[in-house]
Amino acid sequence: MVRIASLILPILLLFTIFASGQTTAPSAAPVPSAENRAAAAPPAFDINTAVNAYLAKMPPAQRARSDAYFEGGYWLLLWDFLSTVVVMWLMLRFQWSTGMRNLAERLTRFRPIQTALYWIQFFLLTSILMFPLTVYESYFREHKYGLLNQTFGPWMREQLIGLAVGLVLGAILIVPLFGLVRRLGQNWWVWGAALSIVFLAFVSLIAPVYISPLFNTYKKLEDPRIKGPILTMANANGIPATDVWEFDASRQSNRVSANVSGFASTTRISLNDNLLKRCTLPEIETTMGHEMGHYVLNHEYKGLVEMGVVVVVAFAFLNWGINFALRNWGQNWDVRGIADVAVLPLAVIAFSLFFFVMTPVTNTITRTMEYEADMYGLNAAQQPDGEANVDLMLGEYRKLDPGPVEEFIFFDHPSGRTRITAAMRWKAGHPESASPEEVARPVFGTQ
Ligand SMILES: [Zn+2]
Repeated sequence: MVRIASLILPILLLFTIFASGQTTAPSAAPVPSAENRAAAAPPAFDINTAVNAYLAKMPPAQRARSDAYFEGGYWLLLWDFLSTVVVMWLMLRFQWSTGMRNLAERLTRFRPIQTALYWIQFFLLTSILMFPLTVYESYFREHKYGLLNQTFGPWMREQLIGLAVGLVLGAILIVPLFGLVRRLGQNWWVWGAALSIVFLAFVSLIAPVYISPLFNTYKKLEDPRIKGPILTMANANGIPATDVWEFDASRQSNRVSANVSGFASTTRISLNDNLLKRCTLPEIETTMGHEMGHYVLNHEYKGLVEMGVVVVVAFAFLNWGINFALRNWGQNWDVRGIADVAVLPLAVIAFSLFFFVMTPVTNTITRTMEYEADMYGLNAAQQPDGEANVDLMLGEYRKLDPGPVEEFIFFDHPSGRTRITAAMRWKAGHPESASPEEVARPVFGTQ
């Protein structure tokens, strides 16, 4: 999706909780008879050996490519942050920001409309200035690693749709935010944080109905091979069948993925078509189990509360940072004060700095919930070998075997090694769940 200026960063962070999740799932697992249980008892199952055998399924060249792709993402965090700061500083230093404010004030006397007019200019100019990095990051780089199926035309079309979505959503947030600043003065940030949290819930609520369909086609799960088992499993875990969808992610890439999206009444589980095409039934079941974990464990509400705490701290920092910078440099920029909409570039700098530094915290919030969903999925689907194979497929775009500090800082989902280790640990306790077919299956054989 298009780079939506950093003010909407919290939305994106919340999305990442639910987007591109994958995992484990409960299924109509076979109930082993007593004699099967006895016969299946392995002589000596070593968890580490099993984990390493799985990791070795990925050919070394492919592993190197995946590592390079993911580690490059660490640097992109830095380049994204620095380029945002540079663009925002240019807007202040050369008074482009105040120029846009002055134009908005000439066009109307109505304050909320002034704010909206400023936002439109700000967002368009920001998107244009950031476009070179956007096109490198999400078009050329994705193609270089074979992770994008789109040609430039369709890709650009989606960028423009994302731009339009950002314009509308941004205005919905920015206009009342500046209204709060004008009315409440220095105490604005507490209510600003509350407003932003409500806004996050609102965006989550409308996303599956009004935003996601702009990029992909969603339909009720239809694949006859999996429809029965999946819906049975969903029902057994208290999830209405109407909440399971499939969508054409292959329009953009071959990535295997699934997610829980929506909020309250719009909550739904969506499996992507790559998952349905490339995976065996046990692998689909284990993924479905993971998504059911998000659903049953109420991760959307927990995520909102945990991210809400971060957002409150972010606004406190924002208020302090803006006042500090205005005291020192405000007159050079012709920004009148914190209630002047021309202060927005400064707010974006403060917000970007905060969330850049908080990367390990926000990643740990999501990674912890992902791990919980993994545990739920293992218990629900009882397919540890299927789980390990799916974890390997996710290794096509997420480094499989990082160091512990690296995982803590940069991973918003557990690494392949962490997930496969959990699966093998579960398998060690449930030897009857072993699947020789899944163990032998060459996940990357066709590539
Ligand atoms: Zn997940």
